[in-house]
Amino acid sequence: MLLGQLNGDVKTLVEVWPTENAWNDEAAEAFQAIEGSVQHLSGKRNRFTIDPQVMLKAQKDARDRHLDIIGIYHSHPDYPAVPSEFDRAIAWQQYSYIIVSVQQGLACDLRSWSLHDDGQFQPEEVLKVEASALGEFGTLSSSG
Ligand SMILES: [Zn+2]
Repeated sequence: MLLGQLNGDVKTLVEVWPTENAWNDEAAEAFQAIEGSVQHLSGKRNRFTIDPQVMLKAQKDARDRHLDIIGIYHSHPDYPAVPSEFDRAIAWQQYSYIIVSVQQGLACDLRSWSLHDDGQFQPEEVLKVEASALGEFGTLSSSG
């Protein structure tokens, strides 16, 4: 999960909040309607979900530090950094979705997307800011 600050249309990433991929048989069953004809892709490598309890904990953690959850990041193993139909189906409008394309184990592309009013993903501009520009929230890594 991505924790940060929200100012109008601009989201500032302050911290990455790692969490486990909670995808399991139960989740697969719950998402079956979305899966449709792509059941063969429904394993952990191709799907992700976040435990609702973990989500609540992250929300509380963020609030305590005057931050918001501004989005979710996940990777696409050997697949482009563009959202899948599954990604679109489970996306929330207020979040940014950063997707990292990992080709043969190496991260090679990073793109951010957000849901437009028409329910389709639109690419977002990603800007790098120096940690010092974030003042007291100087934890954003400017490397990479
Ligand atoms: Zn995806």
